[in-house]
Amino acid sequence: MAGYIKIEDDQTFSKQMFCIPQHYEDYLESVMIPKGLILNRTERLARDICRDLCHGPLVALCCLKGGYQFFSHLSEFIINYNGTSGHSVPFSIDFIRLKSYENDGSTNDVKIIGGDDLSSVKGKNVLIVEDIIDTGKTMKKLLEVISQFKPAQVKVVSMLVKRTPLRSSSYRPDYIGFEIPDKFVVGYALDYNEYFRDLNHICIINKEGIEKYRT
Ligand code: 5GP
Repeated sequence: MAGYIKIEDDQTFSKQMFCIPQHYEDYLESVMIPKGLILNRTERLARDICRDLCHGPLVALCCLKGGYQFFSHLSEFIINYNGTSGHSVPFSIDFIRLKSYENDGSTNDVKIIGGDDLSSVKGKNVLIVEDIIDTGKTMKKLLEVISQFKPAQVKVVSMLVKRTPLRSSSYRPDYIGFEIPDKFVVGYALDYNEYFRDLNHICIINKEGIEKYRT
């Protein structure tokens, strides 16, 4: 099973200890994972992925929009590793846009609402790059879709996996950055109704934030 960093239920940092955009200060409970730690963990994930998957052309598929920051940093680490480890493979990128959440809850209806033509994945090793796995329904649906395009191999890396024993479909990705408590998190491109993507750290939104930005 994939290794990961476990964030315990009460493990958070005071938001006063970090640089938070002023317009969000009153709407966050605390910082759960500072950006520096995300980057350090991402560097190691890139190394593990390259060692396992870089035996032929690799396509990294970014799940928009929430996965874009993680995807960007992970791709950079993979490209660096590919260029310096003495062994390299062609590396390309594709994008897909999914939607399954409204406000802070899953709608049980996963929609693919845009992205590249996935026929490019045929015969290639595909790495799906996701921001967060909650119930796992979104990823199960995406894996069904991708398999129709006949890739050689598909692996999934998710920056976060939530501890949701009662809701989970028991799906686990191949690579995991952090396992986190069952709280609604924002920042580092994860949004709440399109807000908070412009926040560096992964933070827990508070009640006031949920109310202020509810649609
Ligand atoms: P699942 O299908 O696994 O239940 O949900 C996955 C999707 O729900 C993610 O790609 C993400 O868009 C959204 N999601 C689940 N939990 C959170 C959360 O705590 N914060 C944010 N911003 N999005 C979440």
